[in-house]
Formats: sequence, structure tokens, C-alpha cells
Amino acid sequence: MSTTTDVDVVIAGMGPVGKMMGLMLGRRGYSVLIADKQASQYMLPRAVAHDAEVARIFQAADMHVDKMPDAFEVYNDVYLWVNAERKTIFEVDWTAPDPQGWQTTYFYGQPNMEQHLDKRMHGTGNVEAHWNTEVVFAGQDESSVTVTLKNVASGESRNVRAKYLLGADGANSDTRKSQNISWNDLGYFFNWLVVDVVPGPDCKVTHLALQIADPKRPTTVVPGGPGRRRWEFMLLPDEKPEELDNEENIWRLLSAFDVRPDNAKMERHTIYRFESAWATQWRNGRVFIMGDAAHKMPPFAGQGLASGVRDVMNLAWKLDLVMQGKAKDALLDTYTSERSVHIKDMIDFSIALGSIICIPDEEAAAARDAKMLADIEAGVEAAPPPKPRLGEGLWHGETGGYLSWQGRVTTAAHPTPDRFDDVMGPGALVLRDAASASELSAETVAELTGLGIVVVTVDPQGSDRSDITAVADVDNHYANWFVDLNASAALIRPDFYVYGSASSATEVAKLAQDFIHEVTGK
Ligand SMILES: Cc1cc2nc3c(=O)[nH]c(=O)nc-3n(C[C@H](O)[C@H](O)[C@H](O)COP(=O)(O)OP(=O)(O)OC[C@H]3O[C@@H](n4cnc5c(N)ncnc54)[C@H](O)[C@@H]3O)c2cc1C
Repeated sequence: MSTTTDVDVVIAGMGPVGKMMGLMLGRRGYSVLIADKQASQYMLPRAVAHDAEVARIFQAADMHVDKMPDAFEVYNDVYLWVNAERKTIFEVDWTAPDPQGWQTTYFYGQPNMEQHLDKRMHGTGNVEAHWNTEVVFAGQDESSVTVTLKNVASGESRNVRAKYLLGADGANSDTRKSQNISWNDLGYFFNWLVVDVVPGPDCKVTHLALQIADPKRPTTVVPGGPGRRRWEFMLLPDEKPEELDNEENIWRLLSAFDVRPDNAKMERHTIYRFESAWATQWRNGRVFIMGDAAHKMPPFAGQGLASGVRDVMNLAWKLDLVMQGKAKDALLDTYTSERSVHIKDMIDFSIALGSIICIPDEEAAAARDAKMLADIEAGVEAAPPPKPRLGEGLWHGETGGYLSWQGRVTTAAHPTPDRFDDVMGPGALVLRDAASASELSAETVAELTGLGIVVVTVDPQGSDRSDITAVADVDNHYANWFVDLNASAALIRPDFYVYGSASSATEVAKLAQDFIHEVTGK
């Protein structure tokens, strides 16, 4: 459809999710206008932890967290939960690498990370950014959406037409409200005091990630990114936020950890209400919502911001294909159906952790401790964190809808071992044997390539086709993945999720055709 809009996309909100979307679309060459009603970036403490999938998303944004020691800290230890007597009641091993080619856990300071995102977003040269500018939805038709940009300092306003409006405008999202989208609210909430501290050289605090499940004051103590520690203190049922959130009181709470004004600097502190809800609908025509605008959850699993950047990964490549005219519009509907089910699982997981941690009642805490200590005694292993599947959408079969693995590879043109996504790009049809491509026509390979899916083989014998790249599976990672999948080929979408897998040349050709059909409608 040919449209004459002022810009391709308007993004409401310049938090981490809006910036990540600006970066992803700007890199692809789209003209993006991003605006935020605040005067500058939000500097108070929020996210501190992310998992391997988020590291892979940052990788896709050219932010390699293992090469940014000022912003990200790899965590190579256990995550310890202790009771009031400081006895271990639960321990999770975070030392093992994740199959996605990154460590299980990293710690960071959100404001610092956002500055890196901001720099890269501007570096695309395609993003026009405005602070002090409120985005107000003004209407949409078949080919465009109109917003009013209101300068909150001068009061001036102007209208802008775009192909899409993306609401990354936080939990109180005006974009969501403008589309009359309601919440599924689980009614689960707690107030916590969150404090970031910069310990001085004489301040000897543990480096561990700790949950202190003391009913007198449930407390989280974790790294807060390079050079910082994070404390989170739960408000007890009879406490008022203003009573707890003052410096004198915070130093009193910190003194229990031997953290004092003479050996540490209190950098930021605030009270947050942790809620659990997700939007009933994430798309209305040309308007989409993402990040906290679409979901909110307690931070116990470190999945709030993580889920926001997952939204971006899920939607950016689909929007790209639709704006190029290569994919049918209905592909964009899978954004809601896939992400809203995934988010529900993440919210449930966060609540499950919270329901163990947030126990202010002594008797209930004692019963919890007895059960968890008995589990440790009996050698019951901690269940790994869930890897939720996408809701119904662009995937199928037993293996579709889950995250793909990422290993190190080399090619003739790239002889140094590097992560697959850096060498080949994330979207790929990976074949264990070159022979699996015998029924894959050159036209099909070209069509896949046009949709952002390269065809590669990890066959040690290489490939005799110029349209199929031979890559060396440096650590046998793909060989192991194919055993895990019980398949010999897998089609990985550009957001790293598996579309489906195949076990024969006939199935490989069908898998490719099905993908092309589902994306393009042809
Ligand atoms: C204490 C705490 C700890 C957390 N820990 C973690 C963690 O460890 N890991 C994790 O993954 N997540 C964590 N989170 C969650 C994470 O911080 C959020 O999910 C994330 O910041 C949301 O980003 P966002 O871009 O969606 O929204 P926001 O950062 O809220 O940005 C939205 C922006 O939109 C702007 N805006 C609003 N309305 C308009 C409008 N009409 N026009 C223009 N601009 C508008 C706002 O000014 C704001 O700047 C934590 C949260 C808290 C509170």
C-alpha cells in the first residue's frame, strides 16, 4: 500500500523499550519519530538483572554485554535464598552458560544501559527524538495514524502522520488508554523500597545475589551493575511508604549490612508498587503497545524490562516485512497472540517467586522454611527457570514457539569463531546435513532470503550450493541441539524463536514453503 506519511513510525515514550524499538527500526532504515513527555531520561533505580535471551537481544542491537564492563556485570555464582537465621533455604546455580550462547544472568544499572541504547539509537541517523513532548493519539484510517505532539514546555502542538504508532509509554500508557484497552489484573501487589548504593573501598558487602526471606523484613540484596549494590526492602502491612522512604531510615536499614554514610554513597531510593497485570489486546489497527504499557509484574524474576525488549524483538521484524510489502498485515496480529501468552507465564513465575519471598507472617514463614530445608536435606534440585513458549502464532509442531540455541561458528568468509547471530544474522534455516536441502529449490531459498532467513548447513562436508552457506559448528552446539530437537533442521525466526523443525529433505522443503506461505499469504 503506498502511503504518504511524515514518518514511518511514531514511538510514544523514550524509556528502554521505546529506545530499543527506535534502534531496531532505525537500523533497518525506517524514519522514526520518538518522543517523551518528560524533560529527560528517568534516573531512579529500576531494572538490574537480565537473562541470556536479553543478552542475545542486546547482541542484535550491537550491544555485546560481555564487552561493556562499564554497564554490564556478568554474574558467575549462585543465587542464594536465606531465612531469618541466614540458613540457606534455596540455591540456584547461575554459573552455567545458557544454550543461547550467553551466561544465565547479568547485572546492570538501568540508567547507564539506557544511555548506551540512546547513543546507538541516535547513531542510526534515522531517529528524530524529542523530550518534553507528549504524544496524543488523534486518529487512524486504513493507511495511516495521526498523532498530536504537544510540547509540554511551550504549549505548542503539531500533528504528525505515520504508518504506525507504537506506545512504549509505560504502565500509565496514554496510548493504551486512547485505544480503550483494558487490563487482565491479577490483583497481586506489594510495595517495596528500592535503594541503589555505591559502596566505598572500606565497605565490605557480599558480592552474592541474595534473597533474605526474613518475615520481619523481606529483603533483596543484589549487584546493581558495575560499582553498585541494590537493596530492596518490602514494606510491612502496617507501614506507610513515606515512613520508610527517608534517608535516615534507609541508613538504619542498611546499617544491618554494615553499610553506613562513612563507607558508602546512597545514590537513589524510591518506593515502588509491584503489580501483576497484562493488557487484553496489544494491537488496534495501526496502534501497538509494548513494554510496561502492555504488562506489569513484580521484579522477583527480573523479567519486566526483559519482557519489554522481547516485545520489540517480536514486533520489529514483522513490522519491517509488512512495511516492505513482503508480509501480509495479519502477521502483525501474531504479536498479541504470541506475546500475551508468554507474558502470562512470566507473570505467574514472578508471582510464584514473590509468594515465597513476601511472607511477613512468622508462622507462615516458619512453615515455608521447614518445607524448603527438608527439600534441601532430601536433595531436591531447584527447578530451572521456565522458558515459556509463545502463544499461538507463527510457529508449529513440537519444537516451534521455543527459543533457538546459538553456538559459535566460522565460515570461509569469517574464519574467527563468533556467535552465529553475529556471523549469519539471527533468522536462519539451519540444516544438519547438506543433503537435507535436496528438495529445497533455488527459488525457495531466494524467497526465504528475501524474508530475512538465510539457509546454512553445519555439515562438516560443507555445501556444494552457492545459495547455502556452510558454517563450522565450532563447539558441536548445533549437533547437540539437533539431538535435543530430535530433528535434522530448524527454521529460526529473526527474533530467535523456532518456527518449526524437520527430519527429512521432504519435510525441510515443506517447512520452508509453510513459512513463506504463512508470512506472505502466497
Ligand atoms: C524496582 C524495580 C526493579 C526492577 N527490576 C527489573 C529487573 O531486574 N529486570 C527487568 O527486566 N525489569 C525490572 N524492572 C522493570 C523495568 O524497570 C521496567 O519494565 C522498564 O523500565 C519498562 O520500560 P518501558 O520503556 O516499557 O517504560 P518506562 O521506562 O516507564 O518508559 C515509558 C516512558 O514513556 C513516557 N510517556 C508516558 N506517556 C507518554 C506520552 N503520552 N507521550 C510521550 N511520552 C510518554 C514516560 O515519560 C516514560 O519516560 C524493575 C522495575 C522496578 C520498579
